[in-house]
Amino acid sequence: MGVELREVKLPLVEAFVTSTGTETDREALLVRAVTPLGEGWGECVAGSAPHYSAEYAAEAREVITRFLLPRLAAGGWSTAEEVAGALAGVKGHPMAKAALESAILDAELRAAGVPLATHLGGVRRRVPAGVAVGITASVGELVDLVEGYLGSGYRRVKLKIRPGWDVVPVAAVRERFGDVALQVDANGAYTLADTDALAALDPFELLLVEQPLADDDLVGHAQLARRIRTPICLDESITSSGSAAAAIALGSCSVVNLKPGRVGGLLEARRVHDLCLAHQVPVWCGGMLETGVGRAANVALATLAGFTLPGDLSASERYFATDITPPFVLDDGHLDVPRGPGIGVDPLPEVLRRLTVRSEWVRL
Ligand code: MG
Repeated sequence: MGVELREVKLPLVEAFVTSTGTETDREALLVRAVTPLGEGWGECVAGSAPHYSAEYAAEAREVITRFLLPRLAAGGWSTAEEVAGALAGVKGHPMAKAALESAILDAELRAAGVPLATHLGGVRRRVPAGVAVGITASVGELVDLVEGYLGSGYRRVKLKIRPGWDVVPVAAVRERFGDVALQVDANGAYTLADTDALAALDPFELLLVEQPLADDDLVGHAQLARRIRTPICLDESITSSGSAAAAIALGSCSVVNLKPGRVGGLLEARRVHDLCLAHQVPVWCGGMLETGVGRAANVALATLAGFTLPGDLSASERYFATDITPPFVLDDGHLDVPRGPGIGVDPLPEVLRRLTVRSEWVRL
């Protein structure tokens, strides 16, 4: 058994600007697990810099090689379900852990001939596609971008916001595109002192405002939820089924954005989903500029019953001129769920070779 760690670098078709940073490339760490059953793929969603959370790709690589793989090599686990337990002695680093679990789960499911969506309990054959639009240099540029995406068929638009870039762009998009399904994401850029600015978004009937306050401020989000009408969705704050339970109990959010990497893996993501479904809290699938490997896993996850809102599940071409897998394409505003076993897509060897920056084989 062994694991290949492969760093790939894909230029983005346009820079992606949020309240916390600007991305111009997707530098992904791919994991190919070779187990006694066969091989499988996972993607570490950490970016090149710690803008979204504390994790970043180079650090994830070190954590995987120095701490996580020795734990797997030590045994005490035999299935993907047991990987998280085997890694639990290492604190944090959910994206690094998720990448390993995903690759091992994919190997298991490919060997068994079971699609990931089926394994997770999915109920859909295709998922509605939403698009996240970064902060732009001007409102006019933003409106043009949104027009293009709506023309392509996207079912929902999300605008990145930050203090000073909120009401004006939201008003412009509402005015130009009427009752389009619209939501915003602050990536934690506001404080409770900005309550008036956030309440000013109420008249625009947004589906939700995502992560307005800091990651660790569940109480502040609960207070804010009582002062604004727009539903609050949490992203960065939800790091496990435990923090999801706390957020729901406190009234910190009424919607949850789910990303497998943020909660330590697909199996914990399913637990968060199940908890939200039991509490009638809608969930939707977030995005981390994934290549086709991570995108395939997200699409499979989004087939679960509780994913009642369109996710940040875009066509590959929204981010990349060339993806490392056959591209996901929009069909009537939806992405088809891969039908093959495991994640159902394979990296294209020639493209993978061309985009690889570095690779390393670790024998277990
Ligand atoms: Mg977000």
